[in-house]
Amino acid sequence: MAGTAQFVIQAFEARYHSTPDVARAPGRVNLIGEHTDYNLGLVLPVAIDLDCYVASAPNRLGVLRIHSQNLDQSREWPVGQISGLRAIGDWSDYVIGIARQLPLGRGRDVLIHSSVPLGSGLSSSAALEVATALALGWPGDLPSIELAKLAQRAETDFMGVPSGIMDQFAAIFGQRDAALLIDCRSLESQTIALPDAVAIVAVNTMVKHELGQSAYRQRVAECASAALDIGVESLRDAEAHQLELIRDPIAQRRARHILSENQRVLEFVEASRKGDLREMGRLLVESHRSLEHDYEVTCAELDFLADRAMQIEGTLGARMTGGGFGGCTVNLVEPAAVERFKETLGSAYLEKFGIEPVFYHVRPSDGAQRIS
Ligand code: ADP
Ligand code: MG
Repeated sequence: MAGTAQFVIQAFEARYHSTPDVARAPGRVNLIGEHTDYNLGLVLPVAIDLDCYVASAPNRLGVLRIHSQNLDQSREWPVGQISGLRAIGDWSDYVIGIARQLPLGRGRDVLIHSSVPLGSGLSSSAALEVATALALGWPGDLPSIELAKLAQRAETDFMGVPSGIMDQFAAIFGQRDAALLIDCRSLESQTIALPDAVAIVAVNTMVKHELGQSAYRQRVAECASAALDIGVESLRDAEAHQLELIRDPIAQRRARHILSENQRVLEFVEASRKGDLREMGRLLVESHRSLEHDYEVTCAELDFLADRAMQIEGTLGARMTGGGFGGCTVNLVEPAAVERFKETLGSAYLEKFGIEPVFYHVRPSDGAQRIS
């Protein structure tokens, strides 16, 4: 058993005096296909070797007790109250959003330990949701689209956030050494082998601008109104020549990003199959430009990291990843250049913003699993 699982079991036993089941689910970095998931488009995430472990065992106390080691915080509710709870903007919302969908018997204890940085665009939330569902005894076989939908509902139904399904899907269907091409309309996916000669490095801006949450909802609404003008159910069904049917020029630019981004995902997959690293890198940079100018979800820190990275020898491509307004960039870097990349970009960012960025040289990893 992995060292982390042992550690989590020991921490659980020390806290609750019983022996838990343990599950893990990974974070993800999205290579390309940003903000396309809730438009039922194409995305290309990789599950990464940073993950969330959740341990859980029944208690007979009639309460749900949860503890996050990351935050060193605990919460507790009578089991009978769970179904009536509302989201309150607390980290426990993610756990309740799952727990309310599963039978809790006469009580449950839960302990959470994650190496996915919280709120940095590497999907600590979906990792938490999926691992929680498994640890609480979600009964189905893995991998499962039903589990992805259950986890997504914690955000869409309980928390009222109109999130797409990419994060939960990646946490469940991820595969070692490969990216996942997900069609968010059909929910079909294929694994895409990545060329060996490339390292994936996420760089954390260490900022999260307040604007992010409201802007996300606004983008969802802008895309919905663009689809309405065109007369399609979602922008996935729109074609480039129909963009002029969108009356509001801002909504038109948002839609242009979605259409061009879906196309870039396909081109990236093709380039990856051919081992064309330069083309893969070029598409990342184009994606960033589109997110910067058409979709307007970047920020000074993300733009700086993406632009400055491209000046470093051995960087093939760089762009923001995740929702935007902070969080991480994703970079494709020649393996031999990774150390220089970190040093050069780290000191440039520190000099510009007075903040040390955090680097994650990530490896594509397997999706969620029950461990014991
Ligand atoms: P991301 O999913 O990119 O990390 P989100 O804003 O979607 O960013 O989700 C981050 C939130 O998820 C955290 O602010 C916290 O509320 C919750 N969360 C994730 N992991 C944990 C954890 N290990 N312990 C407690 N809360 C967590
Ligand atoms: Mg999230």
